[in-house]
Amino acid sequence: MPPSPPATLPVRRLRVVAVRPVTPRSVRVTFGGDSLADLDLDGPDQQVKLYFPRPGRSEPVLPAPDPAADVMRWYAAYAAIPEAERPWMRSYTIRAHDPGATTVDIDFYPHGDDDRTEEGPATRWARAARPGDTLGMFGPSAYFATPVTVGAADWTLLAADGCSLPALATVAEALPPGHRALAFVQVTDAAEEQALDTAGDLTVHWLRGDVSPADAVRGAALPPGTPYVWLAGEAGAVRALRRHLVEERGYDRRAVHFTGYWRRHLTQDDAPTPEDFAEARERLAAAEG
Ligand SMILES: Cc1cc2nc3c(=O)[nH]c(=O)nc-3n(C[C@H](O)[C@H](O)[C@H](O)COP(=O)(O)OP(=O)(O)OC[C@H]3O[C@@H](n4cnc5c(N)ncnc54)[C@H](O)[C@@H]3O)c2cc1C
Repeated sequence: MPPSPPATLPVRRLRVVAVRPVTPRSVRVTFGGDSLADLDLDGPDQQVKLYFPRPGRSEPVLPAPDPAADVMRWYAAYAAIPEAERPWMRSYTIRAHDPGATTVDIDFYPHGDDDRTEEGPATRWARAARPGDTLGMFGPSAYFATPVTVGAADWTLLAADGCSLPALATVAEALPPGHRALAFVQVTDAAEEQALDTAGDLTVHWLRGDVSPADAVRGAALPPGTPYVWLAGEAGAVRALRRHLVEERGYDRRAVHFTGYWRRHLTQDDAPTPEDFAEARERLAAAEG
């Protein structure tokens, strides 16, 4: 069933309240702002769109929320802003919400400091973030979030890389007490490993360097029973792991929640590739059963 439209669009302005390192690479930014007053998180893995101002602007230019709460009309107004002013839009995850303080935390995983990737605008922003800086945010919204149903199966399999670790951490926090779970997380080195809070019976396999979750899961002895699977990371790596689980291990594709968080050598502004369209079709087919 399509999500029922919200009464107002969740278009928010966020002000940086604090910035602190989580690991040598990851940085946690705490945002505040009156527009967070009505924020109500509906489960883990809450995705948002962040809007980063163009150079020379202290705030992102954003259309006012559409009075009819029509998300497509609002997005069309955003896309119609001249490119030189239109803020860059990137996807991020609410790592934590403090309703009392009216703040949210978002963990940024900057990249582009090796010879294989380029720094994008969100990474540039995160490296320089200071209290008082301002961003736009759309969401969380049922329009682009798929509910995560941890605990509904016999056990849970999680896989992530550095930039999807914040989302995986929220899923780990939502595991029911004693629920068996395995996580495979690819990080650059041991200093990027993080303690994950959970009431579940979670075993984390930290993978360093070029060992991807797909490589590690292929060679792993996985628990018996029916799993729920949550995968996020580089789009090609996520697709490879999903194919292994569905085609070689015979897992029910409807129980495999998968999201490509970034694409090698492509920015989030670049047009979808044929593989992206194929992924969207697979996701739709899995949702329809
Ligand atoms: C639903 C969702 C939730 C997300 N949540 C988070 C989050 O909480 N924290 C977080 O840090 N990221 C998160 N991401 C990933 C983030 O949106 C991307 O990494 C994004 O591309 C960063 O934007 P950018 O402007 O820095 O780089 P872009 O301009 O998009 O890309 C510039 C270059 O960097 C490369 N690149 C992009 N991301 C990475 C990466 N992670 N590692 C290596 N190279 C990369 C691209 O291939 C490209 O060559 C999420 C993505 C999705 C879809």
